[in-house]
Amino acid sequence: MTNPFQLLGISDDVVNAVKDLGFETPTPIQEQSIPVLLEGTNDFVGLAQTGTGKTAAFGLPLLELIDFKINKPQALILCPTRELCLQITNDLKNFSKNIANAHVVAVYGGANIMQQLREIRQGVQIVVATPGRMLDIIGRKAIDFSSVKYVVLDEADEMLNMGFQDDINDILSTTPDDKKTWLFSATMPAEVRRIAKNYMDNPVELTMGTKNTGNVNIEHEYYIVRARDKYAALKRIVDFNPEIFAVVFCKTKLDTQDVAEHLIKDGYNADALHGDLSQQQRDKVMQRFRERNMQLLIATDVAARGIDVSGVTHVINYSLPDEIESYTHRSGRTGRAGKTGISICIINSKEVGKIRQLERIIGKQFTKAELPTGFDVCEKQLFSLVHKVHNVEVNVEQIDQYIPRIMDEFKDLSKEDVIKRFASLEFNRFLDYYSKAPDLNAAVGDDRGERGERGERAGRGRGSEGYTRLFINLGSVDEFTRGDMLSFICNNGKIGGKSVGKIDLKGVFSFFEVEDAVADTVFEGFKAVEFNGRQVRIEKSGDSGRGEGAGGGERRGGGERRSGGGGFGGERRSGGGGGYRGGGDRKSSGGGSGRREGGNSGGGFRDFSGRSRDDKGGNTGGPRREGGNREGGSGERRKKW
Ligand code: AMP
Repeated sequence: MTNPFQLLGISDDVVNAVKDLGFETPTPIQEQSIPVLLEGTNDFVGLAQTGTGKTAAFGLPLLELIDFKINKPQALILCPTRELCLQITNDLKNFSKNIANAHVVAVYGGANIMQQLREIRQGVQIVVATPGRMLDIIGRKAIDFSSVKYVVLDEADEMLNMGFQDDINDILSTTPDDKKTWLFSATMPAEVRRIAKNYMDNPVELTMGTKNTGNVNIEHEYYIVRARDKYAALKRIVDFNPEIFAVVFCKTKLDTQDVAEHLIKDGYNADALHGDLSQQQRDKVMQRFRERNMQLLIATDVAARGIDVSGVTHVINYSLPDEIESYTHRSGRTGRAGKTGISICIINSKEVGKIRQLERIIGKQFTKAELPTGFDVCEKQLFSLVHKVHNVEVNVEQIDQYIPRIMDEFKDLSKEDVIKRFASLEFNRFLDYYSKAPDLNAAVGDDRGERGERGERAGRGRGSEGYTRLFINLGSVDEFTRGDMLSFICNNGKIGGKSVGKIDLKGVFSFFEVEDAVADTVFEGFKAVEFNGRQVRIEKSGDSGRGEGAGGGERRGGGERRSGGGGFGGERRSGGGGGYRGGGDRKSSGGGSGRREGGNSGGGFRDFSGRSRDDKGGNTGGPRREGGNREGGSGERRKKW
C-alpha cells in the first residue's frame, strides 16, 4: 500500500524517516499544505494552531525543495523562542536523517555563539533561528543568505507580540527578493495581516479549521472561586486528578514562583518556569517536565511558548492571560497530536464576562464546573490507589524473599482486613486533609473576600522572629548547596555567617533569612551582583502580606506549618514515602527540587564573588528578548480584554 505521505509527494527517504517517528497518516494541516508548498512557487499563509503538525507541514516540503549537494543556507526558519527553535531543529534533523549531507543548525540566544558560528562555517542548508541571535550573527557577517530560497515565519503572531518586528525586517532584508515566504500563525491580528501584505506576493492562504477556533481535542472548563480560595482550588483540582500532568499558567514571574513554592512545600511535584531563569535553569526544569519527573509546571506565557511536551493532560489558567489571544497559545499545550486535553480557568465571579469573550473568540463553549468536595477527592484518590495496586508490576525475584515474613505478619488477618488496612493507610491521610474542607465554589456575583491581584497570590512566608526572609533567584539547579549559598550571601551581602538564619534551597530559587538589623546591608550588597551572566535578584519575601496556605486551609503536607495558615495540617506528604505522590510510578516524590539538593554538592566552576568565571555564555544575541524577560513586555500591542 502506498504511504499517504508519498501520495502527497514526499520522497522515500523522508517518508521512511517520518514512519520511524510514528507518523502514519498526515494531519489535516499537512494534508492541505504539503502539496501547495511542494510547488515551491508561492508565498503562503497558514492559519494554524500549535500542536497540529505544523512543523512537518512546512518541514517536509522544505526538505524536498532544498538542494543538499550545495552547502549554503537555502532555508531560514524564524521562530519566537529558544524552545521552539530547538524543537523545530530537532524535528527537521529527524525528518532528514536519511538525506545525505543534510545540515540543520539552531541559532538562538543564551547559548554559546562560537559553537553556532562553527556549525554555520561548516556548511548548512537550513537555519532555524530566534531573531535576536540571528541578527547578531548577521551583524558579524558570519552568514551568507544570498542563496536563501525559502523563509518560514513560524508563530508569526507571537514574534510580533514579542516585539521582533524590526528584527525580522532587518533579517529579511539580507535575503534575496525572489525568495518565497511561508508564514504560520495561530491567530491573524491586524499586525500579522500587515506582515503578510508587506512581505508577500499574493500568498496562498489556508485556514486549518475555523478561524481562531481552538483545537477540537480540547475541552474548556471554568471554576468560579473567591480570589482568596484560588490556591486551594488549584490544589483541589490537582488532587481530584491523581494522574494530572499539567502546565499551570500565572500572569507574572513572581506569581509563578509563589505558586510553585507553595505547591512544592505542600508536597506536590512542581517547579517554576519563567524568564528570570537562566537558560540552563530553564533547560533543567523543562527536562524534568519532559521526562515526567515533575507533574506540575508553573509557567508564564512567554516561558511556556512553543513547548511541545506530549501527554499534557491539563492546562490550568491560574490567572486568565492579559491578552485574549494568549489563551489559545496556553490551551494549545494540551490536546496535542490527536490526544485530548482539558483547559481549566480558575476565575473569580467578576471574570465570567471574560469567559464569554473567550467562547466567542475560539468558537467553543466552556463548561462551568464545580470544584469537587473533599469527600469526592478522597474517593477519587482511593480508587486511583486501588487501581494502581491492581496494575502494579510485581518484581517477583526481589519480593519473593520477603513474602514468608510478610505473610507471617498478616497471619491473623483475613484478606479483607489486610485490604481495608492497606487502603486506609492512604485514605486516612486524605480524609485528614479534607475532613473539614470548605466548599470552594463561589456563585456568580459572590464577591466576598475578593482582594484583587494581591489576594490571588499563593502567599509567601514570613521570616522567623527577628529575621527578614528574602527571596533569591538562584537555587539548587545552579549547583548551590546550602553551604555554597551561605558563603554567597555572606560574601555579597557583606555580613557574617552568624547573621544568616534558615536557608531554604529550592530548585530554581531559594529563600534565606537574615537578621532584621542587616537586611538593608544585604539588599545594598546584592544591588549589582551577577551570577553566570545573570542579574541576581533578591526580594523581600512575604511582601504580599499573607500567611501560608493562602487562606484556603488545605495543606497537603503540613509538617512545617507556619503562622497564618489556618489549614488542616496533617503529616508532611513529601518525603514521607509511600504517599500517593511518593509512591507508584513517579520517579521523584513530592518536593521536586529537594531531590536535587544533595546531588550537586560537588560545586561547580564558580566564583563566589558573584561574577561568573564561566565565559561560555556569549549572550550577545539579545537575551533581553530571547531569555524570556519579556513577560508583559510588549503587551500593549495585543488585544486586551
Ligand atoms: P507540531 O505542531 O509540529 O509541534 O506537532 C505537534 C506534535 O505532533 C509533535 O509531537 C509531532 O511529532 C506530532 N506529529 C506531527 N505530525 C504528525 C503525524 N502526521 N502523525 C503523528 N504525529 C504527528
